[in-house]
This record gives sequence, structure tokens and C-alpha cells, in this order.
Amino acid sequence: MISIPYGRQDISDEDINAVVDVLRSNYLTQGPLVGSFETAVSTSCGANHAVAFNSATSALHAACLALGLKEGDTLWTSPNTFVASANCGLYCGANVDFVDIDPRTWNICVAALELKLIEAKRSGVIPKIVVPVHFAGQPTEQEKIYELSRQYGFKILEDASHSIGSSRNGESIGNCRWSDITIFSFHPVKILTTGEGGMALCNDQALAEHMRLLCSHGITREAKLMRSPDPAPWQYEQQMLGFNYRMTDIQAALGLSQLTRLKTFVERRNNLAHQYIQALVDLPLQLPVTLSGNYSAYHLFVVRIKQAALAKNHREIFQELRHRGIGVNLHYMPVYLQPYYRELGFAPGLCPEAERYANEAITLPLYPGLTNEQLLRVTQTLREVLTQ
Ligand SMILES: *Cc1c(COP(=O)(O)O)cnc(C)c1O
Repeated sequence: MISIPYGRQDISDEDINAVVDVLRSNYLTQGPLVGSFETAVSTSCGANHAVAFNSATSALHAACLALGLKEGDTLWTSPNTFVASANCGLYCGANVDFVDIDPRTWNICVAALELKLIEAKRSGVIPKIVVPVHFAGQPTEQEKIYELSRQYGFKILEDASHSIGSSRNGESIGNCRWSDITIFSFHPVKILTTGEGGMALCNDQALAEHMRLLCSHGITREAKLMRSPDPAPWQYEQQMLGFNYRMTDIQAALGLSQLTRLKTFVERRNNLAHQYIQALVDLPLQLPVTLSGNYSAYHLFVVRIKQAALAKNHREIFQELRHRGIGVNLHYMPVYLQPYYRELGFAPGLCPEAERYANEAITLPLYPGLTNEQLLRVTQTLREVLTQ
């Protein structure tokens, strides 16, 4: 029995009332609130445009298509991520490859990216898109990745599923200063939730319009965007092959209400993370390090066990913690070691740092509703499991 899960949504009475109000209104979907939520998120992050989706996965797919990814192209991402960061490339018929992680931050390693680009240039297959993931909420060294994108000519799609509320050098993640598109996830374990939901942000109007078309069947109802010179009042136009990836007003109402507590959520997550760091500092663990200039939304709190200093192995530690009610998890097994990716030809050894990391990492419970007493129970249990 897991009594303390690794993550949990925080739903207030105001959230519930906001959703109920929509249920009593005229529009359940495509009403006024999706647009309000888009504006609220883009304003909060400092991006010019935002398009809401029914998940971050849908947003990643539409973003890849809008950036022109197609068969024969290549997309690179970090192996230390949820499968969706890579699957979006496969949806478009592109090839996918992985860049190893930085041993300090567990984010994509900029030096490894540069080395791989040098090799790629030699063999003539520069990726079309690189997808950096702000793992656990910690921003990647985005300005350096941007610099490489200018030099080598690739697009950047930031997977910020973990990191709404994070910032680097005082700039909010999502402002797209160092990328073409940034996406957020509003799945219940993430920082904010809409049940299921996602959003794509960008500063380029044409990209935003393209993603908006893809989100809803490729259809526009706006006369000024239509190709017919004199559209009838009832007319809509399908201009490309799109999808039904729309967010509903029910979800947007929840998102808008949640967004008012973003700062509180992220501060509480940081407070809990600091309590963890203080309580665990003397144990044989590598604790998370936040790079100077970074503020993490702390979607996850991950520690790495120093295996050589311990009598038990990773799996045993996991099992003991779970038996004692602590909902630990692994974020993530390298994506390319999933059976589906193995069938595509990927094999162990591709990203040694990510593989070492996955043999040592443990995600401890972290969410705004976790109490200080529960945190103490987690740290005491972990101490006993590691030292007994
Ligand atoms: C959760 C997550 C996604 C997918 O988000 P959904 O909204 O569930 O589609 C993509 N990338 C990362 C890194 C995630 O953590």
C-alpha cells in the first residue's frame, strides 16, 4: 500500500466552482475560456502566442508538424524524459536520436550535443529539430543550445512539461526567447493541471496560426484567414489535414483557476525540496544541484544512490521504500531502452551517462499538499532503508 504518492494534484474549492460554472453555462467546449486561458498563460510567461491542446503530447505533435518535420528528417532529444518527447518525431515519420545527459543536472548535455552536431555535420544529417527537456523543472542551458541552433541550423522545441513557473537568469520558461516553440503539460502530476491538457507557446504568428489549424481538423472559421475571396457567413475552410486536439472550456476553467496559484505551488515545492536537501545531506546520495541563475519549479525531487557505498542495490531500495508506503518512482529509464525503441534498432550503450543515472535515480514524493510531517516520514524511512 502506497500511502505517500510521488505526485498529486492540488484542487481547491475555487477550482471546483470554476468547473461547475462551466457545466452550468452554454458552452462546454470552444467557449470563451480556452482563449482566456491561452492569454493568461502566454502573459504569465512572456510569449506572444499560445495555443491550448488536449495534452502536451498533442501539442508536441502539432509543433513538430508546424516546424516542418517530415519523413527523412531527424529529431533529437534527451533520453531522460517521458516517451512523448521522442514519439512526436516518430508521429511525423521522422527518425529520432538521443543526446546523452549532463551528470550534474540530468538535462541534455550541451557538450555532448555539440560533439554529436560536429559528427552529424560530417555525415550530412543535421537534425531538423532538437527537443530539450527541462528535467524535473530545472531549466536547460537554453542560450547555449540556441547558439548551436544558429550555427548548425536546427529548430528548437522546448519540452517544458515539468517547468511552468521555472526561470533562468530572471526569464520565465515559456517566453521562447531561445527556442521556436515551448510546450507545457497540464497532466495531474505536473505543476498545474487541467485533468488532461497542454499548450504550445511561440513568438511567431504564422507558427501559432499553423498550430491552431492542426489543433482543429485544419479548419479555420476566421474570414480573414480564408482562401476564398468572399466567404459566406456560414463558411468554414479546411486548409490542411489536422486533428481534433482541442482543449475544452471545462479544462480551461480548471487551468485558469489553478494558474492563480502557480507561484504558491512552486514556492511550496521549493520549500519542500530544501527541506529534503537538508535532511538527506549526510546520506550516500547525490542530491539535485540547481545551476546558478536557475529557479526550478521542482516538478520532481530526484536523488541518486551512491551504489558503491551501499549494501543494497537500487531495486531492493525501491522495493523496501514502496513496501513501507513511500511512493517512489523512476524518472526515467532511457527512452531508447523501451521495447518499442529497441525494435527500431536502439541498444544499450548509446547514452552511458543516462544509463548510469537510471540505475541510481529515485524520485521521492513531492507535491504542494505534502506536509512537513510526511516529508519527515519519507526522509526517516529512506535513512533506515539505506543504513540498515
Ligand atoms: C508528462 C510529459 C509529457 C506528456 O504530457 P501529456 O500532457 O500527458 O501528454 C511530455 N513530456 C514530458 C517530459 C512529460 O513529463
